[in-house]
Amino acid sequence: MSAGPVPKPIPETKEFWEGTLRGELRIPRCSACDRLFFYPRAYCPFCSSDAIVWETASGDATLTSYVINHRPFPDFESSEPQIIALVTLAEGVRMMTNLRGVEPNPEALSLGMPLTVRFEPRGDQALPMFVPKEVK
Ligand SMILES: [Zn+2]
Repeated sequence: MSAGPVPKPIPETKEFWEGTLRGELRIPRCSACDRLFFYPRAYCPFCSSDAIVWETASGDATLTSYVINHRPFPDFESSEPQIIALVTLAEGVRMMTNLRGVEPNPEALSLGMPLTVRFEPRGDQALPMFVPKEVK
């Protein structure tokens, strides 16, 4: 397992991190204006309501943007380049993540490529990473 910072759930993100431990990608929806949003927070970013409910996303996404980080992070044991990606979930919200199962090379990456979530244990948490959809 790659080492790195272990997320520390706070009240706004507790539901999200409990979901990742079960292998579910949980996304908050505002029940006042009926919009999904990400990242999790206590108030809807659109209408400031605190009427937040949670839904389980499909885990499908497409690649919206990425950078290949060649400098190792100080907290990471691995010095492999990391693909830091902005993905758009099938449900329409965007998420910053890392890509796995694909070469950190622009020739292997295309915007719009289909991705699916995979959960990676880290410490006592599990982090959502994305892999090309055909990779099992
Ligand atoms: Zn709202």
